[in-house]
Amino acid sequence: MMLAWIRTLIITCLLYAPLCAGFDIIAHRGASGYLPEHTLAAATLAHSQRPDFIEQDVVMTKDHIPVVLHDIQLQDVTNVEQVFPDRHRADQHFYAIDFTLAELRRLSIHERHNSQGEAVFSQRYQGDSAGFRIATLTEHIELIAELNRQFAVNVGLYVEIKAPAWHRRQGVDISARVVALIQQQVDPKMPVVLQCFDFAETQRIRTTLEYKGQLIQLVGENSWNESNTDYQWLISDAGLKEVAEVADGLGPWLPQLYELTSSKTLNVPDWVYRAHEHGLLLHPYTYRQDALPDNLSGTRLIRYLQHTARVQGLFTDQVPAVKARLSNKANN
Ligand code: CA
Repeated sequence: MMLAWIRTLIITCLLYAPLCAGFDIIAHRGASGYLPEHTLAAATLAHSQRPDFIEQDVVMTKDHIPVVLHDIQLQDVTNVEQVFPDRHRADQHFYAIDFTLAELRRLSIHERHNSQGEAVFSQRYQGDSAGFRIATLTEHIELIAELNRQFAVNVGLYVEIKAPAWHRRQGVDISARVVALIQQQVDPKMPVVLQCFDFAETQRIRTTLEYKGQLIQLVGENSWNESNTDYQWLISDAGLKEVAEVADGLGPWLPQLYELTSSKTLNVPDWVYRAHEHGLLLHPYTYRQDALPDNLSGTRLIRYLQHTARVQGLFTDQVPAVKARLSNKANN
């Protein structure tokens, strides 16, 4: 009787895999659609929106402390050029690794600017006097763990190791530091995902560093020069096979997940089917309610991702917008 019931459940799950697989919402750089990215305030707000995970991008300081910042450079999200005007390198850029944590604490964080000093997302947070500061990975871990405890929830960490090859050239093994920190400081019951753009590093994290937790290989475009990884190869059959040997899934760029035909239908690219065949999770980035792709409504895009491309999660700057569309409470 019990066995028959379990068999029915398994068959149902196989037939309706997307319904059983779940759909993880990942708060991209915290609640970055509302507050400056990666601040403790943005992580706090994200937690109140109850995603499955909150993302932390990690770079190293001069005193080799992992801090939560998206770029190895500081100028697009801080006032470093005013506080330390002479501390840029020959390329005129200011690098986090050239500053101690105590120095970085003196900077204030603002909404992301482009190289011309204009807001990248014009409708987002516009103030500059609230005193947002750079925080360490340890501080983010403590904050989320304490909020989890007090609200009796289990929001996870989704940690990205930034530019590991570049960090190595600066004399620091960022992956070893981050893996050790997670092992020492994160309660084993807290969900943790580790992610990296550099496939050689993803392999190293799994093999040499013997990381046992969930691991996601990010997929970019070769033109970004994000790492030495050939992303065209990575999503080929040979590449996917190698990824599946070390990683649990892929974090592709959203435009890599669909083809919009001239008749405005959405097609699933072949590589997506092959990624499913290799058992790889797909967690694409980034759903932005204020910067949707041309010719696509948010509802259509999310329905496509969930039911047609059958991804298992989504990075978003606006958790409430994704939740509303997953529960059919939005019609655009
Ligand atoms: Ca990231």
